[in-house]
Amino acid sequence: MDLHLHDAEPSAQEREAVDAALGAPTSGWDGGVRDPVRDTHVAFGGKAARAQRHLLLPALHALQSRAGWISEGGLNYVCKRLSVPPADAWGVATFYALFSTTPRPMRVLHVCDDIACKCRGANELIAQLEKTVGPEHHAPTGDHVEVADFAWVRSPCLGLCEQAPAALMQEFGAEPHDELIGHFDKLLGGRGVLGGAADGGAGRFSAALRAGQPAHQVRSFRRPAAEDSVLTKRIGLVDPTSLDAYRASGGYGALARAIEMGPEAVIAEVTASRLLGRGGAAFPTGRKWDAVAKQEARPHYLVCNADESEPGTFKDRILMEEDPFALVEAMTIAGFATGCEVGYLYVRGEYPLALSRMAHAIEKSREAGLLGDSIMGSGARFDIEIRRGAGAYICGEETALFNSIEGLRGEPRNKPPFPVAYGLFGKPTLVNNVETLMNVPHIVLMGGAEYATIGTAESTGTRLFCVSGTVSKPGLYEAPFGITANELLAMAGGLLPGRTLTTVLLGGAAGVFVRPDELDMELSFEGTRAAKATLGSGVFMVVDDSVDLPALLVRIAAFFRDESCGQCVPCRVGTVRQEEALHRIGARRTRGGVQREVALLDEVGAAMKDASICGLGQTAYGAIESAIHRLGIYNGAPR
Ligand code: SF4
Repeated sequence: MDLHLHDAEPSAQEREAVDAALGAPTSGWDGGVRDPVRDTHVAFGGKAARAQRHLLLPALHALQSRAGWISEGGLNYVCKRLSVPPADAWGVATFYALFSTTPRPMRVLHVCDDIACKCRGANELIAQLEKTVGPEHHAPTGDHVEVADFAWVRSPCLGLCEQAPAALMQEFGAEPHDELIGHFDKLLGGRGVLGGAADGGAGRFSAALRAGQPAHQVRSFRRPAAEDSVLTKRIGLVDPTSLDAYRASGGYGALARAIEMGPEAVIAEVTASRLLGRGGAAFPTGRKWDAVAKQEARPHYLVCNADESEPGTFKDRILMEEDPFALVEAMTIAGFATGCEVGYLYVRGEYPLALSRMAHAIEKSREAGLLGDSIMGSGARFDIEIRRGAGAYICGEETALFNSIEGLRGEPRNKPPFPVAYGLFGKPTLVNNVETLMNVPHIVLMGGAEYATIGTAESTGTRLFCVSGTVSKPGLYEAPFGITANELLAMAGGLLPGRTLTTVLLGGAAGVFVRPDELDMELSFEGTRAAKATLGSGVFMVVDDSVDLPALLVRIAAFFRDESCGQCVPCRVGTVRQEEALHRIGARRTRGGVQREVALLDEVGAAMKDASICGLGQTAYGAIESAIHRLGIYNGAPR
């Protein structure tokens, strides 16, 4: 690898960080000291180094965490280690929001200004931050860059909507530290830690974080009627850091049973349960497992999609934080049943506690022989690798996620071929969402037929609902499918005092706004389909009359514009035009009146829906369309 970015060299710390992530270089071919005798052999570097391309994202994370940004010297070194062309690696580094290719302060606060946080005062919070700390950080320009000690930036949804307004603090350096902060307004206003001069305020704020501010991390999990709990039955009751506690609560009983039953019988039970995928597509899980298991090509891979980034969604975070061993067990059963020996758990980069809890659970399970060369002494091999996302909503799309794991830009692939036949590294791949997999141990233990008695005819089991917005008790609620929207709203304590309901957003930014008079709707796949709505990822966001709904629509449009990977024209251009039209309506500077703008939005929306490659573009107008034509905002005609 002899291509360099301006011959830039890494600092000692950058080199160290990359070596810690990739292992020490083995020869001059991959960044070590050149040995003219040994390096004439192709035993090192070349193909062997290129086969490590899937470690590009971990290596970039190492650089970002150590230095606070990815310098040209650091990137050069990574490229040398992995034999990746610098232009290629640059394309990857610039794809992800959590990576910076310009100098940044060593402490960065990401303040969520997305829809759930907007409902709970994010705009006012940001105005206060601008006053006390200064303006938002922007990438520096020019050669002479002065980098402050601390900066804040706006962020899309951080997945902490039940504790909105939320923020994420990142501290880089030798001991990097990330922390999600719930009810950030209390930290900011309640103690006034940011109240002084910018630097001093930031320093005190950081010290407060370092000291641990769990007082602000209000546990927001809401337990439904206890007998209905399936997925959440351990949360708040069983220590999530203890394998012994997990086993004492019945954990790993399902894996033992699955091994007794054998792979085909496990798949038969999952099929009998009629479990549908919870990630949004609602595909029959048993059918997917069967298709992967029958593929002759080897190896098979399992990918657990924990890149939960749909605004308003936080269920998978809570499952991973509060019941991590259950996910390890569920992945192991899935791997065992479908012939996968390796599973990748792709966790969104903004979930530090979920990442550390999962890493701990995997390590402890491995130590106990529950992962590895012979799980539970069965002779079957299965192990799990974690991949940390880096801030890209589109990586929740399964094929974009494969590309991300492989060290490429997270751009969706055309389908077919489908992942069951041609997925990660071009091999048969089972992709399931966290919530979907977490159902599996229960199905194995209770039997598929028994599981199928929970819920409704077409939607079996329970569902996790992410209740947020202007509701009395935001939180995660588990209920059998078939509960109505009104009942769920009542479970969450109803509206805040003195407020009037405007709408409920179902399914997230890619979902649908529904009217207050539609809340007798049954929350099941068939119930929402009949009502021309969607459950999506389980978002239930309440919006009352205190919320500026047109501003929410602009934020949704900005989200899709920002998160579009730009690969196909309808989405890349359409999301921009959509945001522009909504801005013009909001600013009362329309081109020919509001109805002409609405007609333009409809036309652009139809083009995105029909011609985009993936679900992002296909659903980017859905929520906005429903606000216009279902709620009648801008006097849009009903549809
Ligand atoms: Fe990328 Fe959007 Fe096209 Fe999906 S629809 S591939 S996100 S440009």
